Amino acid sequence: MSDPVVLMASLARELSQKRPLEALLQLTVECAAKIVSAPRASVRLFDATRTRLIATCRAGEPLHSAPGEFQIGEGLMGWIAQNNLPLRTGDAPADPRFVQRADVRDPIGAFLGVPLVSNNVCFGVVSVVRPDKHAFTEAHENLLMLLAGLCAPHLEMARLTRLAVIDPLTGVFNRRGLDLVLPEDSDIGVSIAMCDLDHFKSINDQFGHAAGDEVLRRVGRLLATVMRSGDGVVRWGGEEFLLVLPTIELGRARRVVERARSWVENEGIEVAGHPVPVTISVGVAERRPGEPRDSLIARADDALYIAKNSGRNRVELAA
Ligand code: GH3
Ligand code: MG
Ligand code: MG
Repeated sequence: MSDPVVLMASLARELSQKRPLEALLQLTVECAAKIVSAPRASVRLFDATRTRLIATCRAGEPLHSAPGEFQIGEGLMGWIAQNNLPLRTGDAPADPRFVQRADVRDPIGAFLGVPLVSNNVCFGVVSVVRPDKHAFTEAHENLLMLLAGLCAPHLEMARLTRLAVIDPLTGVFNRRGLDLVLPEDSDIGVSIAMCDLDHFKSINDQFGHAAGDEVLRRVGRLLATVMRSGDGVVRWGGEEFLLVLPTIELGRARRVVERARSWVENEGIEVAGHPVPVTISVGVAERRPGEPRDSLIARADDALYIAKNSGRNRVELAA
């Protein structure tokens, strides 16, 4: 094993170079795993309301799933976030605070997690696990606390920068995030899809504004799932979402977007026990070489307008 002090000194140097949030998270988990010789490490960051994770990263095997969500106070992670304290347990599943997640079957023996803290508030959790029980010592806990202290200011800065481009209702990018997902001057081919909920005003009228908000939340999440990572989803306006599909030409974009349209239609969205019929109309456009972003978006908008006028709940391609 490499010397933890050497590893952390190297981490400190790398963190101080300006990096996007994802790269900082990757550095953090890789170092966490190494300094305590854990096969698996993860980091989770909260949004402003501390009800949703806005960024996660894990290191080690298996990498088949993203770190799971958790609520403040729920499970080991939630306990750390709520109490703003480290937690070390030799036999995690035997701990009364442990909550078994249906989607996680990887063996957990020992668990160690520490809070990421800013202004005395926990904004995230770094954790490591080992399959063998009682593997972590007080020395490991101190090392991980040191690491969290080292990373916290950098992660908090990057987190706040990220929060400024995230829509708080749906968790997808807001309009300020457009530069990140659809740079003005990129020469990579890209298709975009402008999606607008059909007759959304009547959903509000019939079920109430809170139900409307819940529908927007669900549709935002659904679109992020269809896009596989939420990276390409922007809440463009009230009930409009823009999907950005890099390197995808018009024909393939149409198939992806058609799948999204069908998912929304068949999702069976319910609010307070009532089924709410939800559909979207979509206009798709592929960027022409050198085409300004505004023009591309305007063409997707025009196609959306045609979709609306052709009966809604359909996908139209831009000319
Ligand atoms: P169309 O099929 O032509 O798109 O009809 P529409 O009713 O969806 O379109 P319209 O533009 O007439 O109405 C959009 C509605 O979206 C009106 C507005 O109150 C609602 N809306 C916008 N933002 C929000 C929001 O954040 N929450 C909720 N609940 N409603 C919103
Ligand atoms: Mg609209
Ligand atoms: Mg609408």
